[in-house]
Amino acid sequence: MSFYEKFGEYDYSNFKKYLDNEDKDLVLNVLKKEKINFFDYLYLLSNGAKKVLPQIASLARELTIKRFGKVINFYAPIYLSNECSNSCIYCGFNHSKEIKRTTLTKDEIEKELIALKEVGFDSVLLLTGESPKIAGLDYIKEAVIMAKKYFTYIGLEIYPMSEEEYRELVKAGANGLTIYQETYHKETYDKVHLKGRKKNFEWRLDTPDRAFLAGFRKVGIGALLGLYDLKYEASIIGLHAEYLQKKYWRGEVTLSFPRINPKETGFDIPYSVTDKDLVQMLCALRIFLPDTPFLLSTREKPEFRDKLIELCITQMSAGSKTNPGGYTKDDAKEQFEVSDKRSLSEMLEVVKNKGYDPVLKDWEENFLGII
Ligand code: SF4
Repeated sequence: MSFYEKFGEYDYSNFKKYLDNEDKDLVLNVLKKEKINFFDYLYLLSNGAKKVLPQIASLARELTIKRFGKVINFYAPIYLSNECSNSCIYCGFNHSKEIKRTTLTKDEIEKELIALKEVGFDSVLLLTGESPKIAGLDYIKEAVIMAKKYFTYIGLEIYPMSEEEYRELVKAGANGLTIYQETYHKETYDKVHLKGRKKNFEWRLDTPDRAFLAGFRKVGIGALLGLYDLKYEASIIGLHAEYLQKKYWRGEVTLSFPRINPKETGFDIPYSVTDKDLVQMLCALRIFLPDTPFLLSTREKPEFRDKLIELCITQMSAGSKTNPGGYTKDDAKEQFEVSDKRSLSEMLEVVKNKGYDPVLKDWEENFLGII
């Protein structure tokens, strides 16, 4: 059974009684448990939980240190192309936007890779919009092969493909795939994805399944926070991550928490997410899924990112550019405006000053076959 089929079985109205809870004592009882179930997790997302957020945060911090140590892994994105045939109304690369479109040549990709390697990164995330004709499978495969010369860990954030196509990318050297559902709320999904292949909700929802079946070692999921009600999104993210972890237990599920930045496209955020809301969701997820790595991008402000280091985040990007060629020529449109512009070396200092160990390399190809 794929996640799409499982998703059809959920009745969200059954979750409401837990999510609408106002009683903090029920939440405190959840915190005393050795291991919590999905309905306990819903209590942690409730208003009652807001009243005891410091206690929830304290447990989330304790569990993060217990499972991961005081460690932050760093990675950096490379945007290969801002061509896109989709019309996601919240995105700067939206097909209908009149922006300068760029797809990096082989030579330009090499320069970007070298620029990041020289700064000290060993994990890279390669991104594209959805334009199979201009930046299709062969183009991405070539980029992975080139990246493998410089980086130990290659992650991809690209459009949904078939299992066979993903297999080719894994064979080329890709280790991880990130695919955000954007919103798990079907009606909202239909409203914000106006044109293109991305209109297919089901195809996107089953992408993490196909990615694991194709052999990706790590698969990252999440929603674009702000498109729909946070409690709903958080509930389904929890279910989706738990489902993937149980089914593909040899691999690793990771979670990211992108919030819409209103400056991106002038998009009016329908369900604004405050810092406090986001912290509550992160802590609840940490207690529900203690072994799951949490990623945080430079979309968030420096002060907020610094606080989350000590709470439950385990991986961060740094010094990011969100336009193709951003590390070497920087003349194309960004996908979103970076809020934390600090360099990798500045971030390493921040992490060290908090008593945490920054990690640039946490993976070795030779591990394959023995774990
Ligand atoms: S979110 Fe992705 S698919 Fe949608 S317009 Fe932007 S780049 Fe294209």
